[in-house]
Amino acid sequence: MATMSDYEQHDYDVVVIGAGGAGLRAAIEAHERGARTAVVCKSLLGKAHTVMAEGGIAASMGNVYSEDNWKVHFRDTMRGGKMLNHWRMAELHAQEAPERVLELEEWGALFDRTPEGLISQRDFGGHRYARLAHVGDRTGLEMIRTLQQRVVSLGIDVFMECTVTSLLHDGGGAEGAEGAEGAEGGGRIAGAFAYWRESGKFVVFRSPAVVLATGGIGKSWKVTSNSWEYTGDGHALALRAGASLVNMEFVQFHPTGMVWPPSVRGILVTESVRGDGGVLRNSAGNRFMFDYIPDYFRKETAETEEEADRWYTDKTNNRRPPELLPRDEVARAINSEVKAGRTSPHGGVFLDIASRRSADYIRKRLPSMYHQFKELAEVDITAEPMEVGPTCHYVMGGVEVDPDTESSLVPGLFAAGEVAGGMHGSNRLGGNSLSDLLVFGRRAGQNAASYAVGVGSRPAPSEADVATAAEAALRPFTSDTGENAYTVHRELQQVMQDLVGIIRKADELELALKQLDDLRQRAKRVSVEGHRQWNPGWHLALDLPNMLLVSEAVARAALERQESRGGHTRDDFPGPSSEWAQINVVCRATGETVQLARQPLPVPPSELAELLEA
Ligand SMILES: Cc1cc2nc3c(=O)[nH]c(=O)nc-3n(C[C@H](O)[C@H](O)[C@H](O)COP(=O)(O)OP(=O)(O)OC[C@H]3O[C@@H](n4cnc5c(N)ncnc54)[C@H](O)[C@@H]3O)c2cc1C
Repeated sequence: MATMSDYEQHDYDVVVIGAGGAGLRAAIEAHERGARTAVVCKSLLGKAHTVMAEGGIAASMGNVYSEDNWKVHFRDTMRGGKMLNHWRMAELHAQEAPERVLELEEWGALFDRTPEGLISQRDFGGHRYARLAHVGDRTGLEMIRTLQQRVVSLGIDVFMECTVTSLLHDGGGAEGAEGAEGAEGGGRIAGAFAYWRESGKFVVFRSPAVVLATGGIGKSWKVTSNSWEYTGDGHALALRAGASLVNMEFVQFHPTGMVWPPSVRGILVTESVRGDGGVLRNSAGNRFMFDYIPDYFRKETAETEEEADRWYTDKTNNRRPPELLPRDEVARAINSEVKAGRTSPHGGVFLDIASRRSADYIRKRLPSMYHQFKELAEVDITAEPMEVGPTCHYVMGGVEVDPDTESSLVPGLFAAGEVAGGMHGSNRLGGNSLSDLLVFGRRAGQNAASYAVGVGSRPAPSEADVATAAEAALRPFTSDTGENAYTVHRELQQVMQDLVGIIRKADELELALKQLDDLRQRAKRVSVEGHRQWNPGWHLALDLPNMLLVSEAVARAALERQESRGGHTRDDFPGPSSEWAQINVVCRATGETVQLARQPLPVPPSELAELLEA
């Protein structure tokens, strides 16, 4: 039997899992604070999901509207999240985002400019002022390019196409990719166990501090804007290591994904289309969003088309168009129009910018959208409307962390970016993710480095831990049941799409949990053919238990929360409840399943609470 010494091994102070915006920013900070730092990522450097981000980075720099400041950004973020956000995260985020954007610029990011030469800021849903710093509609590409160049120039080690399957403790057991699902972790973090995707060989990272920056979970739904990487690995690694997840019932369905042709269904149509003047219409040509303005946002939303149109050039004397309500509101409205049968030819609604802006303007401000529709759907968005519908986009829930340090309940385990929870409450505003990555990525790197330096005796993973992780990773090769990883994945996506989607009900969630349990039993029996060299069937077999564990967390938390709020809509509990407004649902893994607890929501101090009433 192989022992740890047979595997490739590396020693670091801080290992960052993930090379998106959060991971790269964390690694830069940890390195600059003197920690020996490595980044480990599933895909090639530069290919993390962040590269797909389009519209921009939210930061109250006040370049377009001098009235903007962190207090207004804080208020917008909390109201967008329907007050379930951790107030301290929302405060830090709003205060620090402008500095992080300017720092990106110092490191070489080339943002679009205002006529005065400042960084340009564009409108997005739920933000009172034009606030998103952007590079056309390719902001994520510029962000990744800049951070990646800095990581390379600082000489930080990057292990790419290397997938982590287990976190290792010094005092407890290593949890395998599949076998020890739900195992309770114990003790401090001692490192991580991974495999090279190309060779299938194992790697052991020994490190007292690990930062999870693994992104989201969208690949468990059938219609999603998310890339192949979004299998919830970090959420599942954290659960198995003994950390808690918060707000998992809140999954964001972005209102505008492509609906046609079927091969591209779910691909994102950026909110910048609406921010730059695009409007939503149903089959009768009505601008239907005026029929869906909730009381909560009525005071700040235009009542007539004329007022809404004037807002684009005069925000001081007019209110925001209803197309720019927070995403949860717009997605539900589209869902209702579709249910009522007022659909576009392929079952969505129309998003029209062609009749409202010049072709030149559209091509300049939305170059990716122009090409995306031209290439994928043969639609010229400068001449005709797009067809759009909701798509699973973002998970607000994630690892419960201390807002200032990003540390989880497990000593040595930190989390930042989409894998972390609390910041966005029940609904994220567009643009607030990219700023979240920078603000909390930096904080996670800083605190992981200080933890590693002050840890005293270095924790070390035991032989038995590593052997357990290796055995679990190889198990699919020893099974001959013929159970197929792709079939199980497809069925999982159908269950989540049909039963844990945009509108939920108790009986459907209960059915989903039953079906998830069946799928989990089948996933344990999945068999893989061939060998370990670049074997996508094996890679998926190792991702499946993560998707199943995280899907269970979402379904259980969704069943628990008996109200509708933000990204969680219950048909059987249609309104928000004042009781649930004070409660967070928290998930831990015990034995084979996810256990829930209700926790009181942290209450903001009075000086911040006052801002929320403004
Ligand atoms: C099309 C699209 C457009 C968007 N536009 C915007 C926008 O304009 N503004 C905005 O604020 N937000 C936007 N978002 C959301 C935003 O892009 C994401 O929330 C954000 O990029 C997540 O960054 P991250 O650093 O947390 O993770 P990612 O960028 O997803 O990085 C995750 C990293 O973890 C690695 N990883 C995962 N699992 C493992 C494992 N087991 N082992 C090793 N490595 C692993 C991956 O390889 C990857 O490197 C958009 C999202 C989409 C899909």
